[in-house]
Amino acid sequence: MNKNRFLSQLEELSVSFNDTKGKGVTRFSWTHTASLAQSWLEKEFSRMGISLIADGAGNLHALYRGKNPALPRLVIGSHLDTVKNGARYDGTFGLVAGLETLRSFREEGFMPDRSIEFIAFAEEEGANFGTTCLGSKLITGIISPEELKTLANDETTAWKMMEDFGLEPDKLEKQQIDPQTVHAYLEAHVEQERRLTKNNFSLGVVKAISAMRSYKVTYRGESVFAATPMKDRKDPVMSFIECHTEIHKVIDAGFFPENTRFTVGQITCKPGSPIVVPHECIFTVDIRNLELSALPAISEKIKEIILAVAEKNGIEAEIVPLSKSGGVKMSELVQNAYKESAKELGFEYFEMNCGTAFDAAPMGTAVPAGLLLVANQIDPETQEKYALAEDLYQGALVYEKAIRKLVCA
Ligand SMILES: [Zn+2]
Repeated sequence: MNKNRFLSQLEELSVSFNDTKGKGVTRFSWTHTASLAQSWLEKEFSRMGISLIADGAGNLHALYRGKNPALPRLVIGSHLDTVKNGARYDGTFGLVAGLETLRSFREEGFMPDRSIEFIAFAEEEGANFGTTCLGSKLITGIISPEELKTLANDETTAWKMMEDFGLEPDKLEKQQIDPQTVHAYLEAHVEQERRLTKNNFSLGVVKAISAMRSYKVTYRGESVFAATPMKDRKDPVMSFIECHTEIHKVIDAGFFPENTRFTVGQITCKPGSPIVVPHECIFTVDIRNLELSALPAISEKIKEIILAVAEKNGIEAEIVPLSKSGGVKMSELVQNAYKESAKELGFEYFEMNCGTAFDAAPMGTAVPAGLLLVANQIDPETQEKYALAEDLYQGALVYEKAIRKLVCA
């Protein structure tokens, strides 16, 4: 791996194609800026004589042929899109580490047994329609192409936006990954939670990505003046507090499986006047567990408590699902490849679970997948996230070595 080329190209791809220069990186999928970044990647792959082909969702695929095309291939990838004002190397780190790995193989004449498919995923961040990992969910069949016709923002549907960008979402049905033909999926990414920095590690090997469900709950009572006697009120805030306490008691009593997380992150009262008992208390509920199979029972029990408190207090309750994402254990095969590679290179690593969504989560539901994380720092002045060059290079070296191990049959 050529360190200088890797770092300079990572910088180039990360900052050149950006709609908010000076304020983080903004590169939404299916925009002019995304197409410029895509052309940059196309140019780099064409230098190796490899073409980059977009599927119906705009995920870009390149195939590096191995000695035996009949063997299940290795898939490597990350995403090209960002959130608004996103972190500098988010997504691009994995892409450029993959690109540099393939180029190094080509330059040294290393011929892998298995073919390697490189994927630059579209819409991992979900910035256009609020659905994360859309590109990877489509090619793993978690979301059907038909659902793109109803997935919409204020301006358009996902289907229409893809078509307007020149894509053919109707072809997606036939472009799904056949798990039989894939040996494993490897992703490298900068960390989002900053647990690596807090624990003084540069590299993390992920054991599992949490499953998540979230809901919006509305408790409806009666809006009365603050002078109303306590016994004559139907105060939804009282019910919220009771419900929140009750759920925590159930968690503390060990009723739920280990690693269960319950969070109320937003609370709103209506009408929101200091002298009026609110008629509505609206709050969000986020439930996470590493075991996807554990989530339905946890969600049901929490919903049961929410409804029981409302009934007891004579108020109404409404529960609306907000979002959900899979949750998946990372493959032992890939974890071991990362760990052995790090050890052989003399780097330390942190073994961790991870609470945020990555393309490795949908991919991990279809094929053995593994995620390698690199520590993110926060600039104290600008509050922008960034990763140290040395950490990025260490991560890229481990990624390259792990790929090299897994392409040998
Ligand atoms: Zn990302």
